[in-house]
Amino acid sequence: MIEVLKMRRKLVLGNWKMHGAIGTNAQLLQAIRQHLTTSSLPVDVGVCVPAPYLSQTRDLLTGSDMKWGAQDVSAHAKGAFTGEISAAMLAEFGSQYVIVGHSERRAYHGETADAVGAKARQAIVAGLVPVVCVGETLHERDAGMAEQVVRNQLSDVLAFVGSENPAQIVIAYEPVWAIGTGRSASAADAQAIHAALRACLSEHGEAMNQTRILYGGSIKPNNAHELLTCADIDGALIGGASLVASDFISIIDSASRAASASTVSDEVFDAGVKP
Ligand code: PEP
Repeated sequence: MIEVLKMRRKLVLGNWKMHGAIGTNAQLLQAIRQHLTTSSLPVDVGVCVPAPYLSQTRDLLTGSDMKWGAQDVSAHAKGAFTGEISAAMLAEFGSQYVIVGHSERRAYHGETADAVGAKARQAIVAGLVPVVCVGETLHERDAGMAEQVVRNQLSDVLAFVGSENPAQIVIAYEPVWAIGTGRSASAADAQAIHAALRACLSEHGEAMNQTRILYGGSIKPNNAHELLTCADIDGALIGGASLVASDFISIIDSASRAASASTVSDEVFDAGVKP
């Protein structure tokens, strides 16, 4: 018997934010889909699109290896919450992922830790994978509080979703000062925070070692390789560069190379048992 511990498969996820139009969406998605069909990739790829484009995205990506999802979800299952979109509705459009607690929503919409936790829980109940964003502001980093801030944000959300199934949730470390600024965290700084998040996850049970932790914040083709080869960086959450087909494809390729290079070391065989 061979026991192969499931490695953390890298995930490259686009966050379109409030960008897109029916015509340009089609060009972008078709270009990425075409790339994925010409090369078999050892990574997961998805796009989180504005909710009105979920139907179009589903139509264009069904039958491909790409997944899709949304950028926010209601903290409620249903009811009198005008303007909100429930997790069940996102699931009806074939969504697999939903971003939760993005720093833009925490900052501009006052999302509290409780709201983020409730949203993540609603996503899981509907069968979606919440991609929970954590990250420190520049002020917090300069004050030496980065690690503590993200550990607290992670613990807050785990208190809502539990830790029984590590694949039910993805964490995205997105330093607020790196989002959309062109100023990415260095690979060393990102790895240090990812290691701290990994340690925090492990405190919630060994199984949580399988939870993926993405890095996000000004990832571009020229820095993707360095970031994606870090031991505890399991993929990327990409804003601006996910809107440019050639950039997104280049980052997917970097993730694939990083995944291929680490495949052998991620397989663990039962002690003393030969295949
Ligand atoms: C994001 O919005 O999640 C993000 C990472 O943006 P950017 O890649 O543009 O910094």
